[in-house]
Amino acid sequence: MKVLVAVKRVIDAYVKVRVKADQTGVETANVKMSMNPFDEIGVEQAVRLKEAGTASEIVAVSLGASQCQETIRTALAMGADRGILVETDAELQPLAVAKLLKAVVADEKPDIVILGKQAIDDDSNQTGQMLAALLGWAQGTFTSKLVIDDGIATCTREVDGGLETVSLKMPIVMTTDLRLNEPRYASLPNIMKAKRKPIDVKTPDELGVDIGPRISVLKVVAPAKREAGVKVADAAELVARLRDEAGVI
Ligand code: AMP
Repeated sequence: MKVLVAVKRVIDAYVKVRVKADQTGVETANVKMSMNPFDEIGVEQAVRLKEAGTASEIVAVSLGASQCQETIRTALAMGADRGILVETDAELQPLAVAKLLKAVVADEKPDIVILGKQAIDDDSNQTGQMLAALLGWAQGTFTSKLVIDDGIATCTREVDGGLETVSLKMPIVMTTDLRLNEPRYASLPNIMKAKRKPIDVKTPDELGVDIGPRISVLKVVAPAKREAGVKVADAAELVARLRDEAGVI
């Protein structure tokens, strides 16, 4: 079984994000970038499938600028076998990513495509669903447990009211939720080994995909600053302040 796992290069989760002065987006120059945390969970899941003997090959794919090779290298150091970079400096919206991934799927013919449930930069939560629709494949989104047996994937999904378990006929698109697993750190020997693993570079043109944007962002603004809190001496003061100042009780 072949696994394709999508890995997006995003601003590191621990960096304080700054909005550009002209409100067209966020500052990415000289900012630490890392693999999207939900994609680390995706790579970990793929590696566990391989360790269990369920998967035979893991291909990590990233779309974006040439620096996305670093993100692919991280996936290779965690245990992916090879990488594909679809290189472009153009802005990629979820629909364009889904179309590009569809073209990669046509070449690679994986049995399962694993994506994060959302990228922490745009929080779109769209790409996996769009890819499944474009491919006409079953989808297991927000998966917190995956069992594959005899061509059937059983995904436990985190939904509002609790957990939902769905049974899907392979091939499938799966998106990861936080509780699926805890991703491993790449060991130094594996980081060294990853340097020799191959990364194939393609362009959207070679894949014949129109990546033109379908939506335009009007402006990006930083959230309002939070007011400082106050310490209260006891429960009576808390109740008085909630009643008299906040007016919530
Ligand atoms: P989104 O729909 O933007 O929230 O992204 C959901 C998931 O799609 C991410 O966690 C990635 O697995 C995948 N994805 C989105 N954009 C890219 C990209 N440029 N390169 C690789 N994977 C991506």
